[in-house]
Amino acid sequence: MTDHLDRASAAARAFIEREHGLFIDDVFEGPTKAVLETEDPSTGRLLSRVTEADATDVDRAVQAARRAFEDGRYRNLTPAERERLLLRLAELLDRDASVFAELDALEMGKPLAVSLGIVRGAAAFLRYMAGWATKIHGRTVPPSPRDPSQSLFGYTLREPVGVCACIVPWNVAVLMAAWKLGPALATGCSVVLKPAEGTPLTALKLAELVREAGFPAGVVNIVTGRGPVTGQALVEHPDVAKIAFTGSTAVGRAIGAKAGGRLARVTLELGGKSPLLILPDADLETAARTAAHAAFYNTGQICGAGTRLIVPRSMHDELVEAILGSARTRVIGRALDEGTTLGPAASRAQRDKVARLLGIAQSEGGHLLGVGDVPEEGYFVLPTVVTDVTAEHTLFREEVFGPVLTVTPYDTFEEAIGLCNATEYGLAAGIQGRDFTQVQRAVKAIRAGVVWVNTYHVYDASMPFGGVGQSGIGRELGEEVLDNFLETKAVTVAF
Ligand code: NAP
Ligand code: MG
Repeated sequence: MTDHLDRASAAARAFIEREHGLFIDDVFEGPTKAVLETEDPSTGRLLSRVTEADATDVDRAVQAARRAFEDGRYRNLTPAERERLLLRLAELLDRDASVFAELDALEMGKPLAVSLGIVRGAAAFLRYMAGWATKIHGRTVPPSPRDPSQSLFGYTLREPVGVCACIVPWNVAVLMAAWKLGPALATGCSVVLKPAEGTPLTALKLAELVREAGFPAGVVNIVTGRGPVTGQALVEHPDVAKIAFTGSTAVGRAIGAKAGGRLARVTLELGGKSPLLILPDADLETAARTAAHAAFYNTGQICGAGTRLIVPRSMHDELVEAILGSARTRVIGRALDEGTTLGPAASRAQRDKVARLLGIAQSEGGHLLGVGDVPEEGYFVLPTVVTDVTAEHTLFREEVFGPVLTVTPYDTFEEAIGLCNATEYGLAAGIQGRDFTQVQRAVKAIRAGVVWVNTYHVYDASMPFGGVGQSGIGRELGEEVLDNFLETKAVTVAF
């Protein structure tokens, strides 16, 4: 079998083989200190070496971002100029999409075609945010003066919040970077971006494009390293005005507490345990295909994954069979091998977590139905349907972040809604059904930030995304995301 890395293009390999430093103040620094090694999860072998930024490096990055913000070299550009720079960045990302996709596939394990779709999505989102740069405005307001002889005129200005620390996970690294950079740059903020320790390459590659696009020095800085070192230094830095975090609920809570301690602004996009509710009149084949997509897309490593199937008891057996049939059509394999549609878990730790939770599920009475064969090398896990799962089971409550779908039957609509909401999370929910009234009742009753009706995993630039409860605070995408990066200045003029 061809070595996995040999399947990559010369351009991707050359980038991977470099000894990477940090990107601070428009300079690609050499690798000077602690080296962090990453792995290819398709094989478990060494992939790349990057630098781990310590508190001093993080301080240099934040200071560069702060200088860039304070002297106005970017935020005082015309909105049209910021739009042009963002459009240019999107264009460059599209130009280099295949290399980005290869890097993402190699360091995270996504099948190449899936990676390519993610990169295109990231470029599309940057383009969407570019459009907002020229449409950020306040309001005119009529205050009521106490003194009737006085006239007052009020208006609001929307101003960038300052230096933003953007901390992102590994599952869709390029997209997560774009979701943070897009609104930060559209609004005129400066950024220090920290990618996840296992997936630094696409962020470093993006730095090259930021430079080529012509963003002024210091507006975007990239620091690689581990969460408790590099991430923590960023979160604790007093000159960071806003923290935009995507990741696990446990880390999100800790970051929220620290941000609260010094009143830094913070948004948290966290985990989920999203239900997919099948209504009795749903088409069975469509429901099965949707359920498999909801649970197995990106090997289940996506925060919005639909991981709890809530199904009418009468449809249970037939639907489980149909989902397993759909799972059997997946081709499990290395990210760059032709035909692969289901890649490995992104790391050894992730694979072990899936195995541990499946073990617990079995011991609590769940019935495991895994499909396919696991390749010898790499961190592969089987797409698995688990039946006989009740709301009391660990697997019904804990996020797996792997290709695992639980199935729980219901008898009445009220029982079904109760099951959907029996979670501390509230990110997404799916509903499959045709009766309009019943669908609308379910949409209203389910506690979630995002609801997909007769579809799943639609992440459109124009639609706000984010969760309630333990799934986080704030929304990304859409017009709503701008609020996270803007302060309002209220101006009152007497005349
Ligand atoms: P994670 O451990 O919370 O990591 C997320 C990011 O935070 C990484 O860059 C991580 O660095 C960093 N980090 C870790 N500890 C930190 C600390 N003490 N201070 C500052 N930064 C720290 O999450 P993960 O396990 O990598 O990612 C999977 C989780 O993300 C899942 O729970 C998933 O649901 C969630 N997620 C949510 C969304 C959403 O939009 N709601 C999207 C994608 C993923 P290291 O890489 O070094 O740990
Ligand atoms: Mg982590």
